[in-house]
Amino acid sequence: MKAFAIANQKGGVGKTSVAVNLSATLAHYGQRVLLVDLDPQGNATTGSGIDKNDVEKTVYGVLLGEYGVAAARLKAEAGYDVLAANRELAGAEIELIDVDEREYRLRKALHTLDDDTDFVVIDCPPALNLLTVNALTAAQAVIIPMQCEYYALEGLSDLVGTLRKVKANLNPDIEIEALVRTMYDPRSSLTTQVSEEIKSHFGDKVFDTVIPRNIRIAEAPSFGKPVILHDPASKGAQAHFAFARELLTRQGIAFREAA
Ligand code: ADP
Ligand code: MG
Repeated sequence: MKAFAIANQKGGVGKTSVAVNLSATLAHYGQRVLLVDLDPQGNATTGSGIDKNDVEKTVYGVLLGEYGVAAARLKAEAGYDVLAANRELAGAEIELIDVDEREYRLRKALHTLDDDTDFVVIDCPPALNLLTVNALTAAQAVIIPMQCEYYALEGLSDLVGTLRKVKANLNPDIEIEALVRTMYDPRSSLTTQVSEEIKSHFGDKVFDTVIPRNIRIAEAPSFGKPVILHDPASKGAQAHFAFARELLTRQGIAFREAA
């Protein structure tokens, strides 16, 4: 089992979109996936076709030790499982303060998964808070979605600083797996320029596959579907298939097209 934290403290960069679509594409390629929604906004839950206000057991109860992952995991239409989140999770930050080993709650909960899950995809909130620290402590690797905007690199230095602290104090194994450029517009010269800058800092961690700005990706969540179900032929869906293939290839994992 390998867990990816999808992290960037900036909101609106495409974390949830990447988390939902990566879960769906990995499932498409035959992998057993659990998507963990770690954002109180619950967008990954909704975007997976699950009514966040109608779930009894969520990641919140798992973090507080009320029940385990097995009792709370739900099935999404696209072939992966979901540990749902809703507003309730906003309280976890405070409620975990007095709890033992509060940074390790998710890591411990995921320990039970080894045999029945290939990948865990954790959708982080737009903050470097205790929830994100739980994700970075539970994960083996981080996937950083980013937009190629002027201040993109500046924001990344905070994330990299947090990662360094987590690596030193909580989780020595954590590595950056990928930077994925989202809402990519190749016609913009700023995009090309920022793109080159990111590559000079992060080298081949910057994935070749870019996720274009694509209306099908933007509208898919309102149908409660990943874009690969909403419109599999769209440029957005094709980019997400390519991203999953690049990720699996880099892991040395052979994959097959789902039947
Ligand atoms: P985050 O989780 O980082 O806050 P989201 O994944 O929610 O970001 O994306 C922010 C908004 O942009 C959402 O409305 C989403 O549907 C839209 N979006 C995400 N990726 C794309 C894309 N590649 N093309 C067009 N719209 C996108
Ligand atoms: Mg989000």
